[in-house]
Amino acid sequence: MVDLQHQYHQLKTEIDRAILDVLESTQFILGPNVSSFEQEVARYLGAPHAVSCASGTDALQLALLASGVGPGDEVITTAFTFIATAEAICQVGATPIFVDIDSRTFNIAPASIEQAITPATRAVLPVHLFGQPADMAAISAICARHRLTLIEDCAQSFGATAQGTMTGTIGSFGCFSFFPSKNLGCCGDGGLITCATAEDAESLRALRNHGSTKRYHHDRIGLNSRLDELQAAILRVKLKHVEQFNQARRRVAQRYSAGLSDLVQLPYEDGKGLHVYHQYTLLSEHRDRIMTSLNNHQIAGAIYYPIPLHRQQVFREQCCGQSLPVTESVAARCLSLPMYPELADQDVDRVVAVVREALEA
Ligand SMILES: *Cc1c(COP(=O)(O)O)cnc(C)c1O
Repeated sequence: MVDLQHQYHQLKTEIDRAILDVLESTQFILGPNVSSFEQEVARYLGAPHAVSCASGTDALQLALLASGVGPGDEVITTAFTFIATAEAICQVGATPIFVDIDSRTFNIAPASIEQAITPATRAVLPVHLFGQPADMAAISAICARHRLTLIEDCAQSFGATAQGTMTGTIGSFGCFSFFPSKNLGCCGDGGLITCATAEDAESLRALRNHGSTKRYHHDRIGLNSRLDELQAAILRVKLKHVEQFNQARRRVAQRYSAGLSDLVQLPYEDGKGLHVYHQYTLLSEHRDRIMTSLNNHQIAGAIYYPIPLHRQQVFREQCCGQSLPVTESVAARCLSLPMYPELADQDVDRVVAVVREALEA
């Protein structure tokens, strides 16, 4: 699905030098690369503040903690996402409330959010799935109307925009992951939270470092969740290229779409935002046939996500009998094709040919 070797080789000189400089400095935790990276990301995204942490999952948990979300609170989110989105909600003691998605964008449907609001609702947590921005104009309006905290899961959407604004800068918090396969990926785990106010940034900085603002003084229970200097140094190198990587992903997507438009439901672009194609995900009634054919040709294909969260064992009791028809229908038909910036035209064409052959047979 993803070939990370190309990118490393392309940036090897710069990355290797950055790593060796950190090793030589022996400053490994909360040093100059972390603070510079935070400033550089904030500038790139147009976010007032950026606070790094150890993973995208922690970014979500830290944002929820900083918002004061806890036991007894409900957080409305999507069931068509990676488990981490809901896991973070549970980790702070709150309850994820799963609502249905839009059949074209696969993102949380604003109308279904409104229907799920109760007196216990504290926050809404949309995911910009596969790099496609959620309908932020509608979701922001709902959150403002009901005084709910808006936390964006941007793990798959670094550089995506919604109505000209970067995802992660629209709600109160934007949560990013730098897992190696993400659009901006490091060489291990890493994450970051963007936020709008200085108070929230200060709170996040304390929470990621054992609830401490002054050494050995602890104001609340936090986490040990810091991005390390090695990862920050690598990310500073890659950040300079991320725009070009995202453009390359879009070119790959356009080539897939041109080759498959008559046979499958293509990823949808509404023209209101910029989709950065973390994944290229199509819908087909014949997904299994395509998958078998890809595998027979040693081409990777993947199903993100085969079991929506409301159908997972861990939520069996909570979601007992819950039906999310659009989510279930999409989960039964979705298929993601290989996607990374360095994917060559001839490789894209080969994947297209194999998919066409599977469907036309
Ligand atoms: C990857 C991902 C996360 C978690 O990020 P990690 O850095 O792996 O903890 C959260 N949400 C979504 C939608 C993701 O894709």
